[in-house]
Amino acid sequence: MNASSENPAATPPCENAIAIRGLEKTYGGGVHALEAFDLTIPRGSFFGLLGPNGAGKSTLINVLAGLAIKTAGDVKIWGFDLDRAPRHARAAIGVVPQELNIDPFLTPREALEVQAGFYGVPKKARRTDEILRALHLSDKAEAYARALSGGMQRRLLIAKAMVHSPPILVLDEPTAGVDVELRQQLWELIRALNAKGTTVLLTTHYLEEAEQLCDRIAIINQGQLVACDQTETLLRRMDKREMLVTLAEDLSEVPAALKRFQASLQPPRVLHFKFRTSETGIGDILNAVHETGLTVSDLTTRESDLQDLFLQLTRSAAIGKKAGRVAKA
Ligand code: ADP
Repeated sequence: MNASSENPAATPPCENAIAIRGLEKTYGGGVHALEAFDLTIPRGSFFGLLGPNGAGKSTLINVLAGLAIKTAGDVKIWGFDLDRAPRHARAAIGVVPQELNIDPFLTPREALEVQAGFYGVPKKARRTDEILRALHLSDKAEAYARALSGGMQRRLLIAKAMVHSPPILVLDEPTAGVDVELRQQLWELIRALNAKGTTVLLTTHYLEEAEQLCDRIAIINQGQLVACDQTETLLRRMDKREMLVTLAEDLSEVPAALKRFQASLQPPRVLHFKFRTSETGIGDILNAVHETGLTVSDLTTRESDLQDLFLQLTRSAAIGKKAGRVAKA
């Protein structure tokens, strides 16, 4: 890649793989796809970008990849400013698209060579064999892409995104419509790349995928960031559990000994408990119920999870935004 006109002597010192400040993207029709958007992705992280359809995830990726022009804001990729050093910024990321857009008449080796040529990687600097090996495609290197299985084609897409050795890999819904077994294989592969130092940005609407893979998660809704934290911290926010205990006898009020568990009575004989699993065990509550002399005839529990948090955050953001729009009108 000829970047002499940009002339950044070396990678600018920067802790972050991606740093976005005040990003705005308004499409021609007036759709505000991203508004006042700030996001920081640390180097080396496995970062999940979650959001419902239409949230602005693809717009964000397209801006990073140089496929969409931002309306305003600052974007730095691997320390390179997208406006001042666009080619360096773009060369720092490899984007794995969602669609299987592979030339059926090229072999995986040819596809990687063509891609490397497109990025201006000199022949001597090419890592075709190494990448084929890393993506478990060596034994299919000379097969026509149309003869590859769906899983192999997905791996080839990842391989193509890696030919210019970008330190950041962006995967747009990599496992959408992919069966469970293949999904696990892709997870392993992406995990291994991250373990070797590649920063991974993954968009997904599979909450389980984000929970299992990502060390940090951002939730985006209606073009705005509604949460961004370490996965563990986000999950801790969801440490709440509810339990319904149906008793063998009717009650007129919550026994005093059970009030400390935030119990309420659903008359005549269901006790509703809300508690934090980190503080209270189900056994503690059941022991206390027995000690008051009550008999349990049925029991159900409900754990809140990422899905709950996601719905809670996206719903409250939608309400807030709606209220904001009305107020502005
Ligand atoms: P996601 O990837 O989270 O599903 P998108 O970034 O595709 O969300 O879309 C965000 C918003 O921008 C949506 O309202 C969508 O309709 C709109 N949008 C996306 N691409 C375009 C475009 N090329 N022209 C006009 N509006 C667009």
